[in-house]
Order: sequence, then C-alpha cells, then structure tokens
Amino acid sequence: MNLLWYRNDLRIHSHRALQQALERDEPVIAVYFLCEQQWDNHDVAPLRRWYVLQSLLELGDALAERGVDLHVLDAGDFAAVPGLLADFVGEHGIERLFCSREYPLNELNRDRAVAQALEPLGVQITGFDDSVLVPPRTLNTGKGTPYTVFSAFKKRWDVWLDSHFEPVAALPAAGAGNGRFVGKGGVESALKKMTVPDSLTRHWQPGEAAALKQLDDFAEHHLAGYRKHRDFPSQPATSALSAALSAGTLSPASCYRAATLAMADAGARDGAACWIGELAWRDFYRQIMARFPRVSRGGAFRPETELLQWSQDPDLFQAWCEGRTGYPLVDAAMRQLVATGWMHNRLRMVTAMFLSKHLWLDWRLGERFFMQHLIDGDFAANNGGWQWSASSGTDAVPYFRVFNPVRQSQRFDAQGEFIARWVPALRELDNKTVHEPWKQPLLAPDYPPPVVPHAGVRERVTEAFKAAKAQYDDSNHSPTSRKEQA
Ligand SMILES: Cc1cc2nc3c(=O)[nH]c(=O)nc-3n(C[C@H](O)[C@H](O)[C@H](O)COP(=O)(O)OP(=O)(O)OC[C@H]3O[C@@H](n4cnc5c(N)ncnc54)[C@H](O)[C@@H]3O)c2cc1C
Repeated sequence: MNLLWYRNDLRIHSHRALQQALERDEPVIAVYFLCEQQWDNHDVAPLRRWYVLQSLLELGDALAERGVDLHVLDAGDFAAVPGLLADFVGEHGIERLFCSREYPLNELNRDRAVAQALEPLGVQITGFDDSVLVPPRTLNTGKGTPYTVFSAFKKRWDVWLDSHFEPVAALPAAGAGNGRFVGKGGVESALKKMTVPDSLTRHWQPGEAAALKQLDDFAEHHLAGYRKHRDFPSQPATSALSAALSAGTLSPASCYRAATLAMADAGARDGAACWIGELAWRDFYRQIMARFPRVSRGGAFRPETELLQWSQDPDLFQAWCEGRTGYPLVDAAMRQLVATGWMHNRLRMVTAMFLSKHLWLDWRLGERFFMQHLIDGDFAANNGGWQWSASSGTDAVPYFRVFNPVRQSQRFDAQGEFIARWVPALRELDNKTVHEPWKQPLLAPDYPPPVVPHAGVRERVTEAFKAAKAQYDDSNHSPTSRKEQA
C-alpha cells in the first residue's frame, strides 16, 4: 500500500507525489494532519485557516473521484505527527510514503522526526520539490555559497529552468480504493468553530478548481499587461494567486507553464517574463529561509541591524494597524488588509517601510500583524518582504532609501481611486488634495492629521543605521572579540 501525505499542497493536478504514487498501479491512500496548535503558535490568520480547511474539503472530494481515500487526523501539533503517522502506517500496511518537500524549520524538524519514526517500520519515503520551481539548495555562486543578491540568483534560476523544467505528467485514470473521506466531520467541525465573517470570506474562492480557473483568467486577460499595470493598486492587474500558491491549491509549475506558453504570443512576452520574475522572488526567499536558518528564529539577515534601538510606541502601532496614520495610501492599504485579508504588493512595501522607517517600530511587529491577517501568509515571502522593506534583509532596499508615502500615492494612485475605495472620509477630495489632506483640513474633518512628519525621517534613519553598523564593527573587531574568535 502507498501513502500520500498531504501538507501545503492541497491539489491533485501538477502534483508529482500523487502522480508517482498512482503511477505504480498499487492501492494509494492519502492522509492529512490537522495541526491547529501549530497555526496558533505561528499567528496563522483565521481567513487562511478557513481557506485551507475549505480547500481540504474540496480535495477530499477530488481524491474520492479518483478512488483515493483521504484520512484527516487531528494531531493538534507537529510533535504528535511522527507517532500518529507510525500508527497509521502500521494499521494500513503502508510500504511507501510520497510527499512534497517543505523547507521551513519546524517542518524540516517534523519531517526528520517522521523519518526516524518510520525507519524501523521499513517505510520508503520519497519527497518531491513541487512547492518551488528550483529546489532551495540547487543554485550556488561561483564560490559555492548561497545567492544573496536577487539579480544574480535570477540569472542562474532562468538558465536552470530552461534545461530542467518539466511539467508534471497527467494523472493516471484512477486509484484502486473506494474514495472514502475519513475525518470529513472533523474538518467540518473545525470550520464551524471558526468565526471568520462573510465580509472576509466573500472575497475568496478556496480550492484547486477555483485556483486553476483564476490562473486561466489571469493568463488570458491580465498577463500581457502585467509589467505595465502591476504597480497600480486600483487595477486588478496582478494574479491574486498568492493564497493558492501558499496553500498549494496551485503549483508554481502550473504558473510557470502558463506564463511560458503565453510567451508564444509576442504581445504577452514582456508581461509574462515580468510575472515569471515574481515566481523567482518566491523561490529566492525560500532559499534564503532554507539556507539561513537564523531568519526563521526571528533574526535579522543583517546582524548589525539587531543593534538598532527601535522605539516602543503602542499608540503609533495601533494607528498603523487600524489605518489611522494620516497618510492616505498607508491607511487605505491597511484597511484593505484587514477587510479582505490581502494587500497589493506595492502597498505591502509602502506600509512595511512606513512602519519600520517613519514610525521606527521593529519590523517584526508588522511581520506578525501581516501573518495574523493575510490569507496568503507565508513565512518565507513575508519575512523576506519585511526584511527587504526594513533594510535588514538580503538584497534589501538600502537604508537611506525611504519611500515618501505622499509621492508613492501620487505616483501609484494618481486619481486617488484606491484611497477613495478604502477611506470614505477622503472620497470627496480632488486628485491633488487626496494625497495630502492635511493641507485642506476643513475638507476632511473626520480624517486624522499625520501621526509623524515625513520630513527628517531619512536623516534619522540613516544616522541610526550608521551608528548600528559602527557599533557592530567595533564590537566585532575589538581586541577581546578577536581573541574570542581565535
Ligand atoms: C512586506 C511584505 C510582505 C509580504 N508577505 C507575503 C506573504 O505573506 N505571502 C506571499 O505570498 N507574499 C508576500 N509578499 C509578496 C507579495 O506582496 C505577494 O506575493 C503578492 O502581493 C501577492 O499578490 P499576487 O498573487 O497578485 O501576486 P503576483 O504579482 O500575481 O505574483 C505572482 C506570485 O508570485 C509570488 N510573489 C510575487 N511577489 C513576490 C515577492 N515579492 N516575494 C515572494 N513572492 C512573490 C506570489 O506567490 C504571487 O502570488 C510580501 C511582500 C512584502 C513587501
């Protein structure tokens, strides 16, 4: 008997592990472990949990149609998984286990413990790198070190994919089981226990079928114009596939294939190439997470930035969380996040830089708040994006570059359409005043003034980063530290 262990890969198509398990022409069953405590410990947003559980229900039905039983077991926490899996393997006479590899630290530790638990039972484990396009340990610089600069990584990534990319073969007709969904009631009751308002869920369609349709629609209608329009949050110009990619209802291979096929049309080539670049960013941050474990332990990629003295101001943090900073684009973005569980990429950069540079608050506070709300909350991409914005990360924005929230607003929401959608108090303002309402306070009496001025931020940030760097260099080159290292 062969076992497919589902994790963050809730689909049946473009799924190498499932395809290979079914190919063997032997009975296949599938298992999924519910780990709600793990979600609690990692601030996983209720909306994301809802998306995963709903997608799991759809997956159970899709597997049933293929004659594959799905068993959902309540493990609570990763720590219980090895024991439960060993019992399951014994009960069902499993000889081979297939899964898609996962790279976050806790997942790696869980998988090591599983390998140890299954070894004495003689189970053969086969993993596939389907959650990425290029596995995290594949590409190295000429010196044999991991890439830490995106542009160099991307060049090698393109070349590697040109010669290695292979779409997953279609699934064989059917498995040999009855197609039972064991534990469906547990998934339904976990969903019932959750209190995610319709106002949030109505923006989303969970499951693989919806994700595939969304990919088709995006490739047909928006991919060609992606480069040109992707930075304007009032336009539906990006794919909004991040939730599907992070829960695995869609594979990155399906995305890459759709984009490369679209390139046959000269008019779509540039947009498709640009979108493929975003898939490369996704892999880039995954290899950073896999190869620099300190980022998974809450550490900054650049150690000198650990010496920055962040301010502690709960009121400023609260104003940012609630979209009351007095900067219209920042506030509109934060309200979009809380109301829909998603935020446009440009605005993730703007709000993250605003928190870490203007408010001078520790980026980890914002990283956590994003995870608590995002439907696509994904450690590698979120941590990478936050550390990029706060200039503590790999290939991060230089610390002296600080987005001016007014300039960003004028550039990327020139007519104020996006702001009007999310900040009703500014709806009546003209397209000049809407970016700086404090200049006409009588026109928007219900909107707060800026919580901090923009002037002086760049200088203050530059000074703080320089001081942290000097302190770091001193302490790492002092005679004592040299002696300690010797
Ligand atoms: C501060 C900050 C936090 C972020 N947090 C997350 C997160 O938790 N989860 C997440 O999936 N993305 C995150 N991103 C990356 C990016 O903002 C989102 O992936 C993107 O906005 C999702 O929208 P989309 O699906 O329409 O993207 P598209 O523009 O259509 O891009 C296609 C796919 O490429 C990937 N992608 C795009 N941009 C990036 C990027 N910069 N880094 C990594 N992958 C990328 C995503 O999987 C995305 O779905 C973050 C970025 C920043 C700056």
